[in-house]
Amino acid sequence: MKEFELYEPQSVAEATQVLVQLGPKAKVLGGGSDLVGGIMKDWITGKGLPLPDALVDLTTVPGLNKITVGTNGATIGATATLTEIAQSKELQQQFPLLTQSVLSVASPLIRNFGTLGGNVNQRPRCWFFRGEGFNCYKKGGDFCFAVTGDNRYHAIIGGELCYIVHPSDTATALLALNASARVAGGGGERTIPFDNYFIGPREDVLRETVLKADDIMLDVSIPAPAAGTKMGWTKIKDRQVYDFAMASVAVVFTVENGTWKDGRVALGGVAPVPYRAKVVEDALKGKDIKANVKAAAAQIRTVARPMSLNAYKIDLVQGILERTILQALG
Ligand SMILES: Cc1cc2nc3c(=O)[nH]c(=O)nc-3n(C[C@H](O)[C@H](O)[C@H](O)COP(=O)(O)OP(=O)(O)OC[C@H]3O[C@@H](n4cnc5c(N)ncnc54)[C@H](O)[C@@H]3O)c2cc1C
Repeated sequence: MKEFELYEPQSVAEATQVLVQLGPKAKVLGGGSDLVGGIMKDWITGKGLPLPDALVDLTTVPGLNKITVGTNGATIGATATLTEIAQSKELQQQFPLLTQSVLSVASPLIRNFGTLGGNVNQRPRCWFFRGEGFNCYKKGGDFCFAVTGDNRYHAIIGGELCYIVHPSDTATALLALNASARVAGGGGERTIPFDNYFIGPREDVLRETVLKADDIMLDVSIPAPAAGTKMGWTKIKDRQVYDFAMASVAVVFTVENGTWKDGRVALGGVAPVPYRAKVVEDALKGKDIKANVKAAAAQIRTVARPMSLNAYKIDLVQGILERTILQALG
């Protein structure tokens, strides 16, 4: 493994200072399960993906793992571990969707040290990106090997140039929950809604988020749901043990006499970003849910563009959309 300097800042200001000073040579570190255990140990590198010379460990910044839940919603610090999030009784009560999505991530051991910031900002799991000898777009190369290769787990929506799917289960749930991230960087602090946090390959094929090299996700806030809000989560995996989503659905909606008042539908495992299925939301708005859910779920077919081996995902997503909405409705 390549040598690196380890910084253990005691404040966000100190962490930012190091990141501004070192530029893209330094990377932010949460639990390290992806950055160290995946990217660095496996030498996943290329012209557009240099291995870092320095790591800035955010877990040494006091208070960055705080979880606050109140009448206005919740704020979860970026270094809160997935286990800490799963075990929060208040989060379970107010945002069961988040708890379910967190519990579907990896294994208990990984959840014990994997952080929220690391989960949302983890790099893709595409086997060509992770594989040695595939100098793909994401590493600064000029080809997407999924186009001619085994693309059974790749994108069916929004893949252009590169056909990764976003790997984070928490990001899919947080998008449905209308969350925002507070971010600190050299230019100061800003809040970014999850609707604008993730970017596809056309915008910048080397990144999956709007964060710049000196940016740190500080925490994620979720607004309090309106009384009686329905939530649902389904994740389909290729095997019964821990695995990434072949496809997942997160739904959050309000109902009046069986009619969909307002809501958000997010999909994981199907696009280079956690995907907001507005076609499904639009098809349900103001309509009786039970009578229209089948046709609404089928709307996903209008935006899907499958590759040679992954058309099965369209049927899969359509099915779990319908099932998740009906189960949440109760
Ligand atoms: C075997 C295995 C199975 C897995 N299965 C799943 C799964 O089913 N679902 C799923 O969602 N994930 C899964 N994962 C991914 C795992 O959950 C992530 O590796 C973990 O959540 C990342 O957290 P971390 O704190 O260790 O991140 P790190 O490795 O520390 O960081 C990951 C990335 O995020 C960046 N980063 C970290 N914190 C911040 C921050 N605060 N601000 C900005 N950038 C930041 C880092 O620079 C790095 O690029 C799996 C991983 C493994 C190894």
